[in-house]
Amino acid sequence: MAKATKTIRQSLGYRPAHAAWFAATKDLFNQVAAFYFEVIAAHEKVLEFSNKEALTVLETLTHTTQKNPTPIMPLEEIGEDIPAMFRRAAIHAALGSARSFYTLLRKWKKRKEQAQAKGKKFTERPPVPPRFWNKAVTLYAGQWKERTRSSIVLKVWTGRCWSWIKVRITGRKLPDDVEMGSPSLIWRGHHWWLHTPLEKPFAGPGKIEKQVTTNARTKMCGVDLNLNEHLAVCTIQTVEGTILATTFIGGGRRIAGFRKKQLGRIARNRGKTGVIAEGEQDNADLWRKINHVDESISHLVSARIVQFAKQHGATILVFEHLGDLKPEKGKYSRQGNSKRAFWMKGRIFKYAKYKAYSEVLLTSRVNPRNTSRECARCHSLVARFKEGQPTEGYTSGAPLVLCHQCGLQGNADRNASLVIGQRLVKRYQNPLQGKPPTPLLVEGAEKSAGVAVCQEATCEEEPSLPPAWHADRNEHGTAQDVLFRMDEHMSDIPHQLRLPSE
Ligand SMILES: [Zn+2]
Repeated sequence: MAKATKTIRQSLGYRPAHAAWFAATKDLFNQVAAFYFEVIAAHEKVLEFSNKEALTVLETLTHTTQKNPTPIMPLEEIGEDIPAMFRRAAIHAALGSARSFYTLLRKWKKRKEQAQAKGKKFTERPPVPPRFWNKAVTLYAGQWKERTRSSIVLKVWTGRCWSWIKVRITGRKLPDDVEMGSPSLIWRGHHWWLHTPLEKPFAGPGKIEKQVTTNARTKMCGVDLNLNEHLAVCTIQTVEGTILATTFIGGGRRIAGFRKKQLGRIARNRGKTGVIAEGEQDNADLWRKINHVDESISHLVSARIVQFAKQHGATILVFEHLGDLKPEKGKYSRQGNSKRAFWMKGRIFKYAKYKAYSEVLLTSRVNPRNTSRECARCHSLVARFKEGQPTEGYTSGAPLVLCHQCGLQGNADRNASLVIGQRLVKRYQNPLQGKPPTPLLVEGAEKSAGVAVCQEATCEEEPSLPPAWHADRNEHGTAQDVLFRMDEHMSDIPHQLRLPSE
């Protein structure tokens, strides 16, 4: 049996005074998480253990008991009387952040050593530990009780003591056939919510390998994610190579323009010092705006990809690995824009994987090397160029390709989406070819059988700001337009590749 994970969001009904208690509970939770991050930083070896083992080690280092009267870094410095389950949830939050931070740091050190070994100048800044903590409080069993359809009793920190309070729950009912995870308290849109992860077992799809090796008519949807106008180009083809449909999902130029404008404003507010204090009040609204739009677009594009694949009966989504971030040089707004566009590609993948899985579609990733330079028909290198320019050489990002070997010509992104799909098939014909030489991203959601949990603020590189639901009229406008433009592209496929087999 496979499992699909979903988060159910329910609104909490509480007395106004309780809002301050929820906020105090969240503050304390983040203080405890930040404290454990420090403890981990002072004992980095902890990260070599599993979460369960690390928890024991960290408690021995911090928790005073009769057997352990003088821990090295006592938690009492933050607060006495912190409930065990509250502490454990905070430890897990700290472990998550620490694992991600130290992985980034290790990679940075490696790149630095490699650059120095080659005698190259290395100017990339090292990753920084979290500057402020804004984690949602996860309520482990023991921090809540008596959950019914319409109410729950929560143990909260009032600022002075721990207190059990009963709050009303409104919103969707929890389905019966699911396994419930620990709920979280979420502050969003000037209100407190309860988010509960649910796991639902279902009969999963057959393994990718089996689908690809035993049925030549298995349909795959190859997805080429881009930083230009076409955020995603998807092509459906069968394992044996029959090409069935392509869609161009647009809106990239518009989102880049929007972001560039906001980032330009932020840079001007910073007085062009280049030092960006993301938490600072004057820019917080601008960041929130950008974040919110990036988030909505990622959801729209990923939903469209899955819908298109499903519509054509595809059972596998194929993406390429993202590789490393290479921000464009130039002004702050330009650098920032390309960085965020890169992150957005990651989000689109993550959300598509998550959405695909509950539709019984599996997701896989292939080696990104030369996917844009290879001819989808004869696999020699193609020329890439702009309309009206000589049909030779390789201009990165140009819209057209021509293969001088076999004569294939057409849209460059569509060609790439075909190559991406073909790589998956190749992997099982020659297992060494399709896989990337080294793991390119640390991501829990890597294995095709796994499920990515869709929750806010899971991206460690970014500040976790709650989306501004209250002031987003313009942004909704943007999102609507993009959706509309996507539909346009559906029926109006530009630059069809001309293949004799079609
Ligand atoms: Zn060719």
